[in-house]
This record gives sequence, structure tokens and C-alpha cells, in this order.
Amino acid sequence: MTHHFFQSEDESINTDIAIVGSGLVGLSAAIAFAQQGKRVALIDAKNSLITLKNAWDARVYALTPETENWLTSIGVWAHVDVSRVNPINTMHIFDEASEQPLSLRDEDANLPKLGVIIENQNLMHALWQQLKTLAAENESVVMITDAACKTLHNTQNNIALGLANNHPVNADLMVAADGVDSWVRTQANIGVIKKDFHQTAVVGNFLVEKPHQNIARQWFRPHDVLALLPLPENMVSIVWSVSTERAAELLALSSEDLAHLVHEHSRGILGKLKPVGTTQAFALNQQTATQLIAERTVLMGDAAHQIHPMAGQGVNLGFRDVMQLALLATKFHAMQNMGDKAFLRQYERARKADILTMNQLTSGLDALFATDSRMAKKVTGKIISKGLQVLNSQTYLKKLLIQQVAA
Ligand SMILES: Cc1cc2nc3c(=O)[nH]c(=O)nc-3n(C[C@H](O)[C@H](O)[C@H](O)COP(=O)(O)OP(=O)(O)OC[C@H]3O[C@@H](n4cnc5c(N)ncnc54)[C@H](O)[C@@H]3O)c2cc1C
Repeated sequence: MTHHFFQSEDESINTDIAIVGSGLVGLSAAIAFAQQGKRVALIDAKNSLITLKNAWDARVYALTPETENWLTSIGVWAHVDVSRVNPINTMHIFDEASEQPLSLRDEDANLPKLGVIIENQNLMHALWQQLKTLAAENESVVMITDAACKTLHNTQNNIALGLANNHPVNADLMVAADGVDSWVRTQANIGVIKKDFHQTAVVGNFLVEKPHQNIARQWFRPHDVLALLPLPENMVSIVWSVSTERAAELLALSSEDLAHLVHEHSRGILGKLKPVGTTQAFALNQQTATQLIAERTVLMGDAAHQIHPMAGQGVNLGFRDVMQLALLATKFHAMQNMGDKAFLRQYERARKADILTMNQLTSGLDALFATDSRMAKKVTGKIISKGLQVLNSQTYLKKLLIQQVAA
């Protein structure tokens, strides 16, 4: 077990908030609450500290302007290497039926950009840098890595987490940010509703022959979505979501043969592709926790909801969980307990609609493009013609999808 930043002389650590999981969501939660002056302990079974490499990371995320703004406001973006971040100025959506893409431009939405593409290593490194900065100034920010969680139980006064090496952490509030197979969620007896898409995403980076022009392109076919996301140095990151059987075939190809297939599938739109680095694969499920809270416990990020990556929304949704709880916490008076039931209920109520919408959006689009790609394109067309609503009113999107799927 490794302690960073803080070595307790006591047997136990007493804190306001214990966060299990130091992925993107757990790290950002630790930063947001530390900045509010809360005592925070961040615990992970592994060590997610990142050493930046020159090689490009195959794992990338599309982040919304809202996420980037928030990460800027909590001091994370200042640590990002912006030379490795690429803006998305336009989105093009293709279906099987026609050559013409549907187009959404930043200027149609009155925005300087629709989002950015950032590598996992760049974002994780920036989050760590900011957390280290805060911990250097404040002894009550504690980081424990390589510590397997053993026991979790509510006492009269707090929630007690037992770690390997018998080093207990006592907190007012437990945040489960421990990912899709959340241990905390299981301990809290919270079930999940799971939908297996029987799909796998194949991801990798490629140099392209023609300028990508900061356009994010997606090709929708029945249960088959290929995304080419713009990266600096005229590279693209591919996220190809296909049936698990098809993914096995793609992964068995040499990277040159895969590049050739991507070239064909994208109708040669960016010319020839040259592989950069290795490919990776991720199984795709939709999984939603039946509750977002239990006694003195909240779920966040993939521990609460995992969605299909076609909309590039998964971690944006997780960051919005953190934003919401942090916002509610600012309305707290100093003596109030973070584990307070009424407070946790406010969080759950505030987050439910957003999570439901994203579930319906991603599984709805997957189903729609599989049954009727013309109708799907019509829906997407209406969505795009509504410009700003795409970004600002998920309720509109939801209604539209439900109407069309039900029609
Ligand atoms: C192919 C693909 C593409 C994607 N693209 C996008 C995109 O473009 N945009 C977007 O917004 N999202 C995207 N996502 C979704 C995004 O990757 C996830 O939503 C996000 O990584 C979840 O972060 P998290 O911090 O909740 O969980 P995780 O990253 O899973 O972190 C969980 C942490 O908890 C730790 N942990 C687990 N169990 C324990 C335990 N028992 N005790 C202690 N620690 C534990 C783990 O070690 C880990 O560090 C994509 C996902 C996939 C699969």
C-alpha cells in the first residue's frame, strides 16, 4: 500500500469524503472537493499515476465544451499539453443510403468549437498534476494507491472502509468512482440493469493522407459505427464499434490490412491511412445502477452508468455527476454532514434525467440505424437542423428519438 502526499501516524484516516477509484471521474471529484476545503481521501486498488510518453495514446476521448470549461475552472486544463489536443469544428454523419453526410458546424451552434479530442494519458496526467498541487498545499488531501478494499460498513457516525493492511478510512461520505464493476456498488447492495450490445470497439490511431480539417466523421451501419476523430499532426483516432465476432476478425488483421479496411469503409474520404501504434479493444455494454445512492454512499461515473461510446458521452456524463455533487455541496453549511440523506437524495434526483436521456439516446440510435437507416438519418437531420438544441437540450433529442423509434 502506498500513501502519497500524506503519511498518517494514526492507524486510521478520518475524512469528510472517501473516493474509491482514481480514474478520470474519481480524480476530478477529489480535486473539486479539495478545492471546497473538504478533507478528501482518494483510494485505488492500483496506481493510476501516469508518466507521459511521446507515443500517441490509442485511448482518446471527445470532450464537450462544457467539460473543458469545467476542467479549466478547477485548474486541470492548465496542466494539459494543448499541443496534443485537437478541436472538433464540424461533425459529419454518414449512413449507408447516400454519399452526402449530414453536417453540424460549430458556427451553426454559435460555438467556437463543438468539442475536443484528447488522449487518456494527457488528461490523466493533468488531473494528477492538479491533485498533487492541491495536496502539496493541504495535508487533508490523502491519496492511497495499490490498496485493495476489503470491507465497508456503516457505523453510527460514519462509513468505515477497511483496506488491505488493516488501515481503516472513516468518512462522512463514500463516493464510488470505481468503474463499471464497482466494488462499492456491490457492497452497498445496489443492482444494475444491463444491456449487452454484443459489440466491441476497436480503437487505434492512423496518419491520414488528406487534411482532416478538424472534422469528426461517423459512418452508421446496422450495429456498426465507425468514427474517425481528428488528432494533431493530421492523424485520426478510429473507434470502430462492431459485433464481437467482427471485432475478432478486425483484431486478427495486420495493422496495415486494418488501415486498408478503414480506408474502404470511410470511402477513401481521407485518402490512405498509415497505422501509428497498436490497436486496442473494449467490450461494449450499457449498464445502469438501479439507484445512485445508498446510506452515506453515492455512485459516479461508470460505477453509476456505462453507455455506448457512439455519442462520445461516457465520461462527460461522469464529469457532470461530479459537477452536480460539487454544486450541491457549495450550498452546504459548514456543520452539515456530507452523508446526509436529504443531500444525497438531491443528488440522485438531479442526475436521473441526464443519465436516462443518454441511455435512450445511445441505445435508441443503435436500434434505429439497424432497422431503418433512412428514418435514422431523418431523425439525425432534424437533430442537426436544430443546431444548438443538440448540445443544449437533451430533452428535445430524447423526445424526437422516442417518437421516431415508436413510430
Ligand atoms: C471505446 C471507448 C471509447 C470511449 N470514448 C469516449 C469519448 O469519446 N468521450 C467520453 O466522454 N467517454 C468515452 N468513453 C467512456 C469513458 O471511457 C468512461 O466513461 C470513463 O473512462 C469512466 O471513468 P471512471 O473514472 O468512471 O471509471 P474508470 O476509468 O473505470 O476508473 C475506475 C478506477 O477504479 C479503480 N478500482 C476498481 N475497482 C476498485 C476497487 N475494488 N478498489 C479500489 N479501486 C478500484 C480502478 O483501478 C480505476 O482506476 C469511451 C469508452 C470506450 C470503451
